[in-house]
Amino acid sequence: MAATPGILESIFLKRSQQKRKTSPLNFKKRLFVLTDTKIIYYEYDFDRGRRGSKKGFVDLEKVICVECVEPEENPPPERQIPNREEFDTEQMTIIERFPYPFQIMYDDGPLYVFAPTEELRKRWIHQLKHVIRFNSDVAQKYHPRFYQDGQYLCCAQTAKNAMGCQPLGNANGYIRAERSQRRSRKPLPPPPQESQKPLPPTPCSSLHKVVAMYDFTPINAQDLPLHKGEEYILLEESTGHPWLRARDKNGLEGYIPGNYVTEAQDPLEIYEWYSKNMTRSQSEKLLRSEDKEGGFIVRDSSKAGKYTVSVYAKSSGEGIIRHYVVCEAPGNQYYLAEKHLYSSIPELITYHQHNAAGLISRLKYPVCSLRKTAPSTAGLGYGSWEIDPKDLTFLKELGNGQFGVVKYGKWRGQHDVAIKMIKEGSMSEDEFIEEAKCMMKLSHQNLVQLYGVCTKQRPIFIITEFLSNGCLLNYLKELRARVSQGDLLSMCSDVCAAMTYLESKQYLHRDLAARNCLVTADGIVKVSDFGLSRYVLDDEYTSSLGSKFPVRWSSPEVLLYCKFSSKSDVWSFGVLMWEVFTLGRMPYDRFTNNEIVEQITRGVRLYRPQLATDRVYNIMVSCWAEKADDRPTFRNLHTTILEVLEDS
Ligand code: ADP
Ligand code: MG
Repeated sequence: MAATPGILESIFLKRSQQKRKTSPLNFKKRLFVLTDTKIIYYEYDFDRGRRGSKKGFVDLEKVICVECVEPEENPPPERQIPNREEFDTEQMTIIERFPYPFQIMYDDGPLYVFAPTEELRKRWIHQLKHVIRFNSDVAQKYHPRFYQDGQYLCCAQTAKNAMGCQPLGNANGYIRAERSQRRSRKPLPPPPQESQKPLPPTPCSSLHKVVAMYDFTPINAQDLPLHKGEEYILLEESTGHPWLRARDKNGLEGYIPGNYVTEAQDPLEIYEWYSKNMTRSQSEKLLRSEDKEGGFIVRDSSKAGKYTVSVYAKSSGEGIIRHYVVCEAPGNQYYLAEKHLYSSIPELITYHQHNAAGLISRLKYPVCSLRKTAPSTAGLGYGSWEIDPKDLTFLKELGNGQFGVVKYGKWRGQHDVAIKMIKEGSMSEDEFIEEAKCMMKLSHQNLVQLYGVCTKQRPIFIITEFLSNGCLLNYLKELRARVSQGDLLSMCSDVCAAMTYLESKQYLHRDLAARNCLVTADGIVKVSDFGLSRYVLDDEYTSSLGSKFPVRWSSPEVLLYCKFSSKSDVWSFGVLMWEVFTLGRMPYDRFTNNEIVEQITRGVRLYRPQLATDRVYNIMVSCWAEKADDRPTFRNLHTTILEVLEDS
C-alpha cells in the first residue's frame, strides 16, 4: 500500500498507554504522521531512515484536547532538557533527547508524546488544534500533569477519561479559532507577521505568474505555503536567488523556493504525465518497469521545442513501446498520430486518454518520473543559513571524510539531512563560513544542496541534503554487471547537468571525482563538495605534490602550474566518466602519482573501458585534450551525452 502523505511527520518518544494498571510504563521512539483524518504512529527503521510497520493511530475526530504537559519531576537523561554547559560539551547525546511532552486527549484517555524540541512541540500542537477545532466534544478544561500510577498527578482523579481540572488558556500562542462555515483540514499557514500584512490581490495581467509544481509547507515565518497547481505572482525579478518573493491568490506574501514553481506560460510541469528531462531510454526503462498496458510519459523531445509521447502496450504478452512526436499544425494546433487537432498539449493528452486514435494504445496510465518527490529547497526556509543545532537529531553515522565524521539526521524531527562535523584544525573555518553564504545560493537538481551551517559551537557543522544511496564510487562498485549502458550514461548526464550549471555560474568544483558524488534512493547522481577543497587545511591534500592531492583526476595545467578553470573540471569529468564505465576502478591503478604526471605530460591517456562504446569513449577523450581550450564546455558535453542517450 502506498504510504499516506502526512501534513506533519516527526520522530517523537511515545509513552505506552498502560492498558493495565500494573504494566510498566515504557517509552519508544516512533514516527508520528499527521494525515487529514488520523495521527498514525509507526516503527522507524533508523538504519535505513524509513518508516516501518504501523503501530497504532488516533482518529482526529475523537480528539478532544491537545496541550502541553508539565515536565516530569525527575526525568531520566533521555527526557531532560539539557543545560547550557551540557549543550556545549556534549552535542550528540543531548540532541537525541526528547524533553518536551504534550498530550493528545481522546475517548481512550491521554496519549503522551515527547518532542525533541520546543519548536516542534509547538508546531504539532498548533496544527492539531487547528484540525480538531470543530470536533463535537472539544474540551474546555484539561489536565496539566501526567496520568501516572492510576491517577492524574494534578487532581488525583482516577478515571483516565476524567474531565480536565484546569481551564484551557491560549497556551502556545494559539487563539481559539472562530467557528466558520467551512470545515477545513488543510495545513495551517503560518501566522502572518505584523510587518508583512497581506495586501489585497491586485488584478494586473502583466505580472509575472508562476504555477506550483509541488506543495510546500513553510519552514520559516517568512515563507509562503505553496499548493500544487495554484498560481502565484512573483513580486520581484529573479536575481538568481533560489528563494523568490511571491503572492498567492488570497494576497498573502512570502518567500517560496524557486525550484518548486514553473512559468505559468509552460504549465506542463504540473501534470504527472510530464517528465521534462527524461530521455528516450529512461522513458523505456520506466515504462517497462511499470509494465502497465497504456502506460505513457510525455517528455521533451531531443528536437528542441518539441514534445514526445512514449506509450507502452502489451500485444500478445510482449511489451512494446512507441514514441510519438507531437506534431504542430498552423495556428498553434497540436496532434499525434491522426489529425485530431487541439490548441494545447493537455487537451491533446485528455483526448488520447479516451481515444487511441492511431496510437498503439489509449493513454491509460500516466507513468510518473522521479519527480514524485519534491526537490530540496536551497536552505531550510528563506534567508536562514545559520541553523540551530538544537533542531538537529543525530540518527546514524554515514562515514568519515577529509573533515571528519558525517552523520545522518533529522532537522526539526522531519527533514532528512546529512551533517558534516568539521574536525577542528581540518578547515579554514572563517573563510568557509563566508563562502557558505554564496554556496547556499547554488541550487540545481543534480547538486547536493547545502542547507546551512552551525557555526556558534565547535566543531562547526555543515548541513546538506541527505542522499540515501551514499557515495557514487561505492555505488558503482556494488553495481557489478547488472547495469545497462544507458544507466551509466544517465549517471554521467546527471553529473554533467550539475557541472553545466556550475560552469554557467563560473563556479569551479576543483575536486570532481566519483567519490565526491552521491546517489539518491532513485539512483539519481548529484555532485557534492564543490569548492570545498579551497578550505582544506592539510598540505598532503592541497599541494599538488602531496599524497592526497587528486593527481589522477587533474589536468596537465593543474599538475604543472596549479591552473584551475572550468576546463580543468572538464578533464576531471572525463576521468569520472571513466570511473563510471569501469564500475569504480582506480584510474591508472598500476602507476604511482609521480609516474602519472610523467605519463600525462607525454600524452598517455586512460584506456577504453569494456562497457564504453567508441562514441562514449570519444566523449571522455575529448575531455582530455592537452590544451584546456581544446576541451569542450560542459554545456556542449551535456548536449552530446543526451544525443548518445537518445540513440542508445
Ligand atoms: P569529506 O568531504 O569530509 O571528505 P565525505 O563527503 O567524503 O566527507 O563523506 C564521507 C562519507 O559520508 C561519504 O563517503 C558518504 O558515504 C557519506 N556521506 C557524505 N555526505 C553524505 C550525504 N549528503 N548523504 C549521504 N551520505 C553522505
Ligand atoms: Mg568528499
